[in-house]
Amino acid sequence: MAILSGKPFEGKKALILGVANERSLAWSIAQHLHEGGAQLAFTYLGDALERRVRPLAESVQAEIIAPCNVADDQQLDALFQQVKDRWGHLDYLIHSVAFANKEDLEGRFVNTSREGFKMAMDISAYSLVATAKRAEPLMEGRNGSIVTLSYYGAEKVVPNYNVMGVAKAALEASVRYLAYDLGTKKIRVNAISAGPVKTLAAAGIRDFRTMLAAAEQKTPLHETISAEDVGALAAFLCSPLGKHMTGCTLYVDSGAHIMGA
Ligand code: NAD
Repeated sequence: MAILSGKPFEGKKALILGVANERSLAWSIAQHLHEGGAQLAFTYLGDALERRVRPLAESVQAEIIAPCNVADDQQLDALFQQVKDRWGHLDYLIHSVAFANKEDLEGRFVNTSREGFKMAMDISAYSLVATAKRAEPLMEGRNGSIVTLSYYGAEKVVPNYNVMGVAKAALEASVRYLAYDLGTKKIRVNAISAGPVKTLAAAGIRDFRTMLAAAEQKTPLHETISAEDVGALAAFLCSPLGKHMTGCTLYVDSGAHIMGA
């Protein structure tokens, strides 16, 4: 946090959705916010992940550790009620959640089922809208920041990314519409388009190793990125340094997005 010296997030409250384990991009973001002095709340999906998430959350003195399936409105309502009861307000919302059926992340996109399409869109794109709507009254007027995670497959065809690319396109468009709606409340909304990082979610994409190898061989910097890079950019976006940035999709991908064939 070289340029963000001191405790830029002292007294700030951050809700983090999407930690599954210590490799999660959301965990790196959480660590950056914690180092900067923020108080944190975490969610987990199901009992199996609770066992992974709870010790991590406790290691950064999290004040809320709650279950949340973003496809379930009641769980979303309960989560934001808990945040309201405990903190009364919120400064940062980190949305680092995505899911698609494994069979929809390989082969031909044309074979995507209606149910598979709907589920990927619901969990990976609509959930940003659902969480932003609930966060809005808690974040109003605080110069807060909403950050979500995207990937270049939103813009160009990346074989096997398939329905997730379509969901990420909807996510990035949602970022722009949310930024417009929430701007009057002084809430910023941005997406980070990250290069491939080996995480639990990434393991669901067929031939992910090929994506990693391409990131190393074909990008201008000839290096893969790390979760740390994503954490640092998210911290920047939450900090006063990013105070006039909203509606953006920012790349941290060693320059992959500028390359043609
Ligand atoms: P991850 O598996 O650590 O995180 C994905 C999270 O989504 C998990 O915590 C999982 O519990 C959560 N999730 C899935 N379905 C959910 C649901 N119904 N309700 C609530 N939570 C749910 O993997 P990650 O790579 O850290 O992924 C985080 C975000 O980053 C995702 O949006 C992903 O698409 C994006 N991203 C990842 C990469 C990469 O290469 N790893 C690159 C660009 C973007």
